[in-house]
Amino acid sequence: MNPFCLPFLAIAFLAASFARAESQEDKSQWFKGNLHTHTLWSDGDDFPEMVADWYRSHGYHFLALSDHNVLSIGDRWMNIKEIDKRSGSKAFQKYIDRFGSPWVETRGDREAGTFEVRLKPLDAIRPLVEGDGQFLMIPSEEITEKGVHINATNIGELIPPQSGSSIVETIQNTLKAIDEQSKRLGRDIIPHLNHPNLGDKGISAEELAALVQDEFFEVFNGVEGDGDLGSSRRHGLEMLWDITSTLRLSEFGAPPLFGLATDDSHDYHGEQKASPGRGWIMLRAKELTAESIIEAMRRGDFYASTGVVLNDVQFDKLRKVYTVKIEPKDDVEFTTTFIGTRRNFDKTSRPRIDPTSGKPIESTRDYSKDVGMTFQQTKGNIAQYQLTGDELYVRAVVTSSEKPSNPTTESILQKAWTQPVGWEVETSRGNTSQAESR
Ligand SMILES: [Zn+2]
Ligand SMILES: [Zn+2]
Repeated sequence: MNPFCLPFLAIAFLAASFARAESQEDKSQWFKGNLHTHTLWSDGDDFPEMVADWYRSHGYHFLALSDHNVLSIGDRWMNIKEIDKRSGSKAFQKYIDRFGSPWVETRGDREAGTFEVRLKPLDAIRPLVEGDGQFLMIPSEEITEKGVHINATNIGELIPPQSGSSIVETIQNTLKAIDEQSKRLGRDIIPHLNHPNLGDKGISAEELAALVQDEFFEVFNGVEGDGDLGSSRRHGLEMLWDITSTLRLSEFGAPPLFGLATDDSHDYHGEQKASPGRGWIMLRAKELTAESIIEAMRRGDFYASTGVVLNDVQFDKLRKVYTVKIEPKDDVEFTTTFIGTRRNFDKTSRPRIDPTSGKPIESTRDYSKDVGMTFQQTKGNIAQYQLTGDELYVRAVVTSSEKPSNPTTESILQKAWTQPVGWEVETSRGNTSQAESR
């Protein structure tokens, strides 16, 4: 490619960096979906069509069953003892009550200990739950290798876990395998990095910033105790988002991360560790297809939520005004915080120190207050931020005075997180082909 083309690419990219074109406005609508769930196919405790039925009956439009290192394809049977053990002996009876015979397939003998229930493949349950076109199942897999969990939404074929000598290399190899399949099958598959604070070490913002191929991550995951808010040893996921996005824009010439909320639900029978209905995304698309959903995500035309409903999110690129309109609710107060980093931010940082050993902790460094700072806070149902032009990016978080319907210690008040806007890729460094595709 002619190197003189690069600045033009950057400009084209800027123009495409946020929100839909005006012409799409009237035709598009909001769709609600969860891109991270589990079933009996891996370590969940319910049948796939029961899980889909839960989401459909709770007002969702799309769902990805993202079981660990498996696609629900082919003939698979599970012994009732295992189903009972996982579900407190509840799943099978509920399954019979909901779908009954002949849908529910069994074989073997209870007395002899050989009684098994068929776990239906995705292709078999799609006609049942999608029916009238008001609900969409998107094939997915949680590609899981040690501490690295990456969801591949709209996957076509199984991708086995990809090993690497480090967390970074494992992520790189997983993203590469997804990209290879995407190109080979001519199918847009969207990876997102799950629960970055899970486990002893998690993934640092510096590591994530350098992994510019990863465009999406979970700013909220519904599993109780997976570190969304951080700890004395580690930043919470919002600060991880800000540091990563700041480093990408200022050092890597790459776009900021986009944030999702998901359930990562495993428990459908009363157990509260990973129950459904805690985190989802709302996105604007013209139709309910995997392609249009992925397209909206790549445009950044979506927000993450644990309860707050937004009627509109607009970034006026000419006037540089970011507007968030919140669905009003009686006696509920909303506070919108516009967060970002300015171009001339104080770049100093230092490792966090373990108070017991006095040694640096192996995780994201501590940065100056300039990184992920609050630009403005607004109360009410409409919040508007006028960019000054010196921002690297701006994002908005809306916090409600109301509790979520299914709260956790990490989700105390309902929230919504919009995507970073007002950013531009300033140099031709980084991966320009990524810039073109996003
Ligand atoms: Zn996971
Ligand atoms: Zn999961």
